Amino acid sequence: MDCIFCKIVKGEIPSNKIYEDEHVMAFHDIQPAAPVHALIIPKKHIATMNDAGEEDWKVIGDIHRAAQHIAKELGVAETGYRLVNNCGKDAGQVVFHIHYHLLGGKKLGLTH
Ligand code: 5GP
Ligand code: ZN
Repeated sequence: MDCIFCKIVKGEIPSNKIYEDEHVMAFHDIQPAAPVHALIIPKKHIATMNDAGEEDWKVIGDIHRAAQHIAKELGVAETGYRLVNNCGKDAGQVVFHIHYHLLGGKKLGLTH
């Protein structure tokens, strides 16, 4: 399967890794939209939130737990941060492997 984030999980494409556990991985976005811009993904390939099944809600929770941890690690827990999932065309999803953007380190606008 030609999925860039699956390749990052397998180590076939390098990434600037921030966090990893059994089911979740996080790394810095290659084109940061804020001083802190992490991407948090399930290791399992799930294309969009629309494709998540009953068995996937646990890893979505794990992603939120990782986000709390990463926000502390990257120093934005106190100042605040945004956790964003883009689902589908109108949201501007480009990579079709579920990912949450963790954005912070500046006063964020309404849309990004
Ligand atoms: P989307 O628009 O799908 O929600 O966001 C995809 C994000 O993935 C973008 O912010 C983009 O900069 C990031 N991205 C795309 N390819 C790579 C890559 O190979 N490595 C990393 N670290 N980020 C990537
Ligand atoms: Zn994938």
